[in-house]
Amino acid sequence: PVGRVPLMAGNWKMNLDHLQATHLVQKLDWTLRDAKHDYAAVEVAVLPPFTDLRSVQTLIEGDKLHLRYGAQDLSPHASGAYTGDISGAFLKKLGCTYVVVGHSERREGHHETDDVVAAKVEAAYAHGLTPILCCGEGLDVRKESGQVGHVVSQLRAALAGVSKEQAASIVIAYEPIWAIGTGEVATPDDAQEVCAAIRTLLAELYSGDVADGIRILYGGSVKAANVAAIMAQEDVDGALVGGASIDPAEFASICRYRD
Ligand code: PEP
Repeated sequence: PVGRVPLMAGNWKMNLDHLQATHLVQKLDWTLRDAKHDYAAVEVAVLPPFTDLRSVQTLIEGDKLHLRYGAQDLSPHASGAYTGDISGAFLKKLGCTYVVVGHSERREGHHETDDVVAAKVEAAYAHGLTPILCCGEGLDVRKESGQVGHVVSQLRAALAGVSKEQAASIVIAYEPIWAIGTGEVATPDDAQEVCAAIRTLLAELYSGDVADGIRILYGGSVKAANVAAIMAQEDVDGALVGGASIDPAEFASICRYRD
């Protein structure tokens, strides 16, 4: 990823309460500290459940850790009568840098359409958060070799309200649904094919320079054992890691993929 700082982001999903979260962040920090990890060379972020964020903030800010953190979702609305929803304003106040938008588990389990995803991307920017915008095809689409068309269409919709200036900071995560939590990792060539197509789309929507600066992550059963081959691909600039991110030693090894 020439000129782009790789990002390793751990999506904890609905795992770890706030006490377990504190332990994980401490262990991750110790492990990376032991390895003299250069956070400016490979950025590391954790994405805990909402209820952990205050504890994670207190630890990271109090001990001046170099980890970044964010949330797994946000409301498209700023405030009001939306029982159970969480505003981007709250996340910003808790020191979040990132917010995941459009994860396939939200699209499927909570019926989030492309329009809802687009509204959430706009809400993230409205509150000064950086979206980690997820896209990816299911097995049916992959079997018919429709992955590029599917992802391009998801991203065109999600980016409809995003300006060139905003787009410069976005993070895109390509996550083939058939590879999430299944142990079925896409081949490095599969990941590169779609990530390159995403960069071509970004160049068309914004500019070549903007597209060259945007980080495109791969996600789907990433582990310490397969991350280096994926990171060797030209258009892959990091990983969105689910299952392997709740094991601090494994996630630290993923962050240290260059060792
Ligand atoms: C994810 O849900 O973002 C993900 C990539 O999960 P896993 O690494 O467990 O496949």
